[in-house]
Amino acid sequence: MNDSKQTVHATVLGYPRIGADRELKRAVEAHWSGRLDEAGLEAAAAAIRSQMLDDLASAGLDSVPTGVFSLYDHVLDTVVAVDALAPRHRRESETAAYFAAARGDAEAAPLEMTKWFDTNYHYLVPEIGPGTAFRARPGKALAEYREAVGRGLNARPVLLGPVSFLLLAKASDDAPIGFEPLDRIGDLVPVYAEILSALAEAGAEWVQLDEPALCADRGAVELEAVRTAYERLSSIAELLVTGGYGPFGESLPVLLESGVQGLALDLVRGGVDVDVLESLNVSRETFISAGVVDGRNIWRTDLLAAAAELERLHRLTDRLGVSSSCSLLHVPVDLDAETELPSSLTERLAFARQKLREVVSLAEADAPRLQRPPAPDDWHSETVRARLDALPEDADRRVDYAERVAAQDELPPLPTTTIGSFPQTAELRRARAAHRRGLMIDADYHARMKAEVAAVIAEQEKLGVDVLVHGEPERNDMVQYFAEQLTGFATTAAGWVQSYGSRCVRPPILYADVVRTGPMTVEWTSYAQSLTDKPVKGMLTGPVTILAWSFVRDDQPLADTAEQVALALRDEVADLEAAGTAIIQVDEPALRELLPLRRDGRAAYAAWATRAFRIATSGVKPETAIHTHLCYSEFGDVIDAIAELDADVTSIEASRSKMEVLADLDRADYRRGVGPGVWDIHSPRVPSVEEMAASLRLAVAAVDPRRIWVNPDCGLKTRRYEEVRPALANMVEAARLVRSELA
Ligand code: GLN
Ligand code: ZN
Repeated sequence: MNDSKQTVHATVLGYPRIGADRELKRAVEAHWSGRLDEAGLEAAAAAIRSQMLDDLASAGLDSVPTGVFSLYDHVLDTVVAVDALAPRHRRESETAAYFAAARGDAEAAPLEMTKWFDTNYHYLVPEIGPGTAFRARPGKALAEYREAVGRGLNARPVLLGPVSFLLLAKASDDAPIGFEPLDRIGDLVPVYAEILSALAEAGAEWVQLDEPALCADRGAVELEAVRTAYERLSSIAELLVTGGYGPFGESLPVLLESGVQGLALDLVRGGVDVDVLESLNVSRETFISAGVVDGRNIWRTDLLAAAAELERLHRLTDRLGVSSSCSLLHVPVDLDAETELPSSLTERLAFARQKLREVVSLAEADAPRLQRPPAPDDWHSETVRARLDALPEDADRRVDYAERVAAQDELPPLPTTTIGSFPQTAELRRARAAHRRGLMIDADYHARMKAEVAAVIAEQEKLGVDVLVHGEPERNDMVQYFAEQLTGFATTAAGWVQSYGSRCVRPPILYADVVRTGPMTVEWTSYAQSLTDKPVKGMLTGPVTILAWSFVRDDQPLADTAEQVALALRDEVADLEAAGTAIIQVDEPALRELLPLRRDGRAAYAAWATRAFRIATSGVKPETAIHTHLCYSEFGDVIDAIAELDADVTSIEASRSKMEVLADLDRADYRRGVGPGVWDIHSPRVPSVEEMAASLRLAVAAVDPRRIWVNPDCGLKTRRYEEVRPALANMVEAARLVRSELA
């Protein structure tokens, strides 16, 4: 992208598209509720795009990415760009079709949604079959390119690459067994060629094709698809291919041989690619963009270290660039919106706007090369570190499961329970908002939450549930609730990042050693227990999930930070046990999310992640039962880790997969208690007694009935009481029915 040896080309690979003040959320939600028509929605979208271009333009980048705005999801945008909408989503209005695919409507179920690589962003899964008729629809890409060019910017259209698009897709329901979306690469590439031609004709010299799927292990068939796709496409425009989620690895030589003109390396996670490049005979004409500014975390870049990386790459190419490691989609827009954070923290942070400046200053040879200041002394807890050092190697081990089960309280066969949360009613949310704004004093808020706990206990007593929960009304969020009480964490005022569609989250910042200053949950659980003779489960969020849903310090290995969080939880578990809690559930819904994309990192990950969980939970007596909850049924590569958590009972999602997951668990040698969900809580539908009994019969046929628990797929916070009451009544009845059949 640059012609002289001296200059380094500054750019970023993508930018937040929710607006600095979550304008996207307000606009699309107003549209969905009928308060904003299509023209109004488009005007709001244009204003957000304009703000994005303002940011990119004023930073002084050498080129700016375009086409990175999205009304909902960039994978769905790609579905539209290649005209691959499923027939059931086609509508008169293109906007209606788009949102039908995203969210479903009266006629059709939406596309499935799943996590984007190892992040907490969720994308919509394209459905591709042998009959999907691809067609080029470059309208959005062209329009957004022209918007930027119209402002005199050097614009670079960005598209999700064809190989990743197909690897992220699933086979449509009508596809024959054995069909893989990637089988269609030969039909898709010509359509991409048409889109690239249209962009080139409009004046685009460079086009960025994102191939994040190449950051995972890829075999011969996939590499062949890369080769054929890029041999063809690199003849149409100058291509900048990005990965963004780790090293390209085995894909790197294939991309180079295929003739792509530029590669954007993720040098935050994929630094090994530089070693590979050094060993290959790379043409000095190849544009190499060094992704040294972390697109996934919020710490300031160590500019001195980054400059050294650039030096190393300059020895390999005459055309060097500097950029973010991936799109800035995963970081909040502007640090300047955070006025409450201590300056010792803000001086170490960079959100999207600040990262633009870092990229530009790295490209300017004479800019100062700032290093991070050393962390303040009080960010360090000698006590926590000494306690962790003193933990014996086997501190994460409990006595044998058999011995534990024998010691634990006897429950009826097929015990019934729930996953933890009860409906977060509008009234509860109003109380929380009033409390946050200072309109409700602590004592009133507290009393309101206690009343809710009492109501939730009464509901469960009436329904006849065996193991009760307090309902989690006091928790705004299962991670933030703990982050607010532990030192070492900060929460932001406006640090929103897109989770999916209009849903944004505000991850806490874990910046220092983690110290628990007192019990965090005991009061609520004990209060709930005081109201009933039935056991009440204590409810905690596990160390891996707390890390996964926070921005975590990058100055020490994740494993070390996980141990600190685990130690805080271990103390909480001990306090719960001392207060008389006989069952403690530690949720780890993000266990799979942090799993490394490449196999060679997985064993080490599983080792530290499960050790952290065990440190949190193994300090209890054999009599105390430890439960865990994982939110999904497709365990894939974490299945072996589930046994390694060493929990007495694991609840999982199972209703949609018809209990198939039990056989998978069995094959993975998991032989402890299991609560396969019998009620799909993602849907407002109330399952019948017969339906849940049928699921339970499958379960007791698959594994020893003494191991089976009866529960919904997940927490109930998003459901309404009108659904929860009848569904739980049916669940309890189904358990009774199958119990009587067993007897
Ligand atoms: N205990 C939490 C709840 O019931 C678990 C949530 C989750 O699995 N994501 O809401
Ligand atoms: Zn869940």
